[in-house]
Amino acid sequence: MIRNLITGGAGFIGSHLAEHLLDNGEEVLVWDNLSTGRMSNLQRCVGRPGFRYIISDFTEDPSFPRMAEQVDVIFHLAAAVGVQLIVNDPVRTLETNILGTEVALRAAAKYGKRIFVASTSEVYGKGTRIPFSEDDDVLYGPTTKRRWNYAISKAVDEFLLLAYAESHGLPGVVGRLFNTVGPRQVPHYGMVIPRFIEQARTGAEMTVYGDGTQRRCFGHVRDVVPAIHKLVHCDDAIGHVVNLGSNQEITILELAIKIRDRLQSDSEIRFVPYEIAYRPGFEDMERRVPDLTKAERLIAYRPSRTLDIALDDILADGAAAPGAVMGNSR
Ligand code: UDP
Repeated sequence: MIRNLITGGAGFIGSHLAEHLLDNGEEVLVWDNLSTGRMSNLQRCVGRPGFRYIISDFTEDPSFPRMAEQVDVIFHLAAAVGVQLIVNDPVRTLETNILGTEVALRAAAKYGKRIFVASTSEVYGKGTRIPFSEDDDVLYGPTTKRRWNYAISKAVDEFLLLAYAESHGLPGVVGRLFNTVGPRQVPHYGMVIPRFIEQARTGAEMTVYGDGTQRRCFGHVRDVVPAIHKLVHCDDAIGHVVNLGSNQEITILELAIKIRDRLQSDSEIRFVPYEIAYRPGFEDMERRVPDLTKAERLIAYRPSRTLDIALDDILADGAAAPGAVMGNSR
């Protein structure tokens, strides 16, 4: 039976991955410090055979390397999440992202374990050549603008994994995740879909940042998670960076209207300048579309769930379990 360790396993994506692996008959050890993860995310895992969890900071826990030795695969998902959090707490962003990845990679390399490291489409920075392909050049703003700290810290994570793979033969792969959505994503770290749903539900103004013409592609977590699983076991993917997500675009204003219509809400839409939403000098990306050719070639990745399906699933989950969307359980 395959044994897996997931750092950040109580988070939004980590908890879906834990469930997916258990459904596949594998063992799962979730490691999370509950800084942004929540135990309620694991309610469908706790008590199932083969499931265990440890609540501590794995970067400081002396038992982490020993536990890493006892598993077959490590999924490193623990990271600072959400643009809001990243802008508000730059030290935590850098330390969590860089130190965490170093600790996870060192343990994986020591025992020769397969490892998946979650990266982000933020790594493409201000690139404008659409779609974004893994080997494209990246372009960032100055280090004096906090916004780029996240992108650069995740780029360092990618360099670390690639260096370990090349110099130490580490069987590792990086997944560059584009906007990923689904049940259990909470609004408090700034993610747009749970925020709009909460605003539309409560009749609050829906805060569209900028002029709402910026576009995003939203991938369903239930398409992304099986792809993460396949990638870590794909020999041809070892030592590579691979985009994952959806390539179907929507403008943020259209998204707000869609969610308002779906919830039959009479919330007003309010346009909020970026410098008020985040901080002066904040730069948003206009568009962010993944080239999915590499994922398709390696693991036959073809996401099938549309944004409408994602919204159905989020709303159904929120209705079934109050608080799941609102994220008020911590
Ligand atoms: N956004 C918005 N209103 C909100 C939160 C986010 O208009 O209340 C916008 C944000 O400026 C960005 C897009 O929605 O253009 C997606 O934001 P999110 O933080 O979910 O992910 P990002 O793509 O920025 O990582």
